[in-house]
Amino acid sequence: MVFESLNLIEPILKALQEEGYTIPTPIQAKSIPIVLQKQDLLGCAQTGTGKTAAFAIPILQLLSAGEQHRNKRKIKSLIVTPTRELAIQIDESFKAYGRHTGLKSTVIFGGVNQNTQVTALRRGVDVLIATPGRLLDLQSQGMLSLSDVEYFVLDEADRMLDMGFIHDIKKLLKLLPDKKQSLFFSATMPPEIVKLASTILRNPVEVSVTPVSSTVDIIKQEVYFVDKGNKSALLVETLKNQSINTALVFTRTKHGADKVVKILKKEGFYINKIQKDLANKDRCFVCTKI
Ligand code: AMP
Repeated sequence: MVFESLNLIEPILKALQEEGYTIPTPIQAKSIPIVLQKQDLLGCAQTGTGKTAAFAIPILQLLSAGEQHRNKRKIKSLIVTPTRELAIQIDESFKAYGRHTGLKSTVIFGGVNQNTQVTALRRGVDVLIATPGRLLDLQSQGMLSLSDVEYFVLDEADRMLDMGFIHDIKKLLKLLPDKKQSLFFSATMPPEIVKLASTILRNPVEVSVTPVSSTVDIIKQEVYFVDKGNKSALLVETLKNQSINTALVFTRTKHGADKVVKILKKEGFYINKIQKDLANKDRCFVCTKI
C-alpha cells in the first residue's frame, strides 16, 4: 500500500513525500481510514510503530476540510501525552505533515516558564499538544479554552497512568465538549486502561499492531522470577558473581532508578544514572565494578 491510496489531500501527500515517507506503517494503514471516517479509535501500539502520523495525518486532513466553515485558530484538536519529549516530537510531526495546510500547532509542557507558551496560545492555534499538568494549569488561569475541541487524542495512556496522571485526565475530560471524536493510544491494555478507554470512547474501532522487536541475536537472555523484596539483592548478586564488567540497568520509573543507584552505590559499584529530564551531559552509562 502507498499513501496515495489512503485518499489523502494533496498538501499532506506533498509533505509526506518531502519527509521521505512512501509506505504507511501497519498502524497508519489501519488507523487513517477509520479516523477519516470520523470514528473513535482504540489503538494498541508502541512508540516506534509510526503511531504519531497515524493520528496526526487524518486529524490534519479533517481540520483542513472543515477550515472554511470554522473559526480559525481556535483549539480544535487536543493531543495529550505524558512527557515533554513526546509532546515536542508530536508537535514537530504536526508541523512537518501539516506544513502545506496552513494549520498551526503549538506545544505546552511543565518545568519551564509559561510565558512563551502563553504568547503562542494568544496568537491562536488549531492543534494543541500538551502534557496534563501544564494544560490544566493554563486552563485554570484562563489562558486557553477547550470548548472548541473536536478531535481529542490521549497518547500513551498506560504511561500516563503509571506516572500518576489519572486524576488530571479525569479533570480534563470534564473540560472537553461532549461532541468530539476521540482517539486513545496505549502500548498495553491492562484492565484499568480498558476502563478508562470505555469512559472516553464511543463505539471505538480497535486497532492493534505488534511491537517492533529488535533483539540482537548474540545477546544471551535470562529471566529470573523473583519477589519484589528480593530484586535488589538478586541484582547485586548478578552483577557481582557473573562475568559482567559493565552493565546497563533499566528501571520502570525514575523513582526506581534512584533506588537502584543508592543500593548499587552502597555495594561499591561505580554508577551513573540516565534519566530523560537530566541534562544531556549527565546522561552517561550506568554501572561498572570497581
Ligand atoms: P512514532 O512511532 O510515531 O514515534 O514514529 C517512529 C518514527 O518513524 C518517526 O521517526 C517517524 O518519523 C517515522 N515514520 C513514521 N511513519 C513513517 C512512514 N510511513 N515511513 C517512514 N518513516 C515513518
